[in-house]
Amino acid sequence: PPDVEVLGRSTWTFLHTTAAYYPEKPTPHQRANMISLIRALPLLYPCSNCALDFGEDVKVNPPDVSGRVGLSRWLCERHNEVNAKLGKERFDCSLEKTDERWKDGPRD
Ligand code: FAD
Repeated sequence: PPDVEVLGRSTWTFLHTTAAYYPEKPTPHQRANMISLIRALPLLYPCSNCALDFGEDVKVNPPDVSGRVGLSRWLCERHNEVNAKLGKERFDCSLEKTDERWKDGPRD
C-alpha cells in the first residue's frame, strides 16, 4: 500500500500549488475542469479512509472554483479539517499565508 504521509504531502503540494496559480477569473471550462479534478479525488485517491472522509467533507462544503482567492481558501479549510482529524496544527487560511506558502515564498 502507498505511504499515506508521503502521498498526502505530495497531494497537498499539487493541490495547493494548483489553487495558488488558478486564474483570478477562470473560464467556465476551467471551472468545470477544477470541479472534475476535486470530485475525482474521493473516487480515485488510494487511501480509502482519506477518500471517504474527504468525499463527505466536499459534499458538505462544495468547492469554491470562482477564482484563485476562493479556491485557495476553500482548499486550506479542507486541509484544516484533515489536520484537525489527525491532531495537527491548523493553518491560517488568509490569502497572505497561503500565497506565502504555496506561491510567493516568505517576504523579507
Ligand atoms: P501535510 O498535512 O501533508 O501538509 C504539508 C504542508 O502543507 C505543511 O507542512 C504546511 O506547510 C502546509 N499546510 C498545512 N496545513 C495547510 C492548510 N490547511 N492549508 C494550506 N497549507 C497547509 N492522512 C491520514 O492519516 N488520514 C486521513 O484521513 C487523511 N486524509 C487525507 C485526505 C486528503 C485529501 C489528503 C490530500 C491527505 C490526507 N491525509 C490523511 C494525509 C495528511 O493530510 C498529511 O498529508 C500527512 O499526514 C503528512 O502530514 P504533514 O504533517 O507532513 O503535512
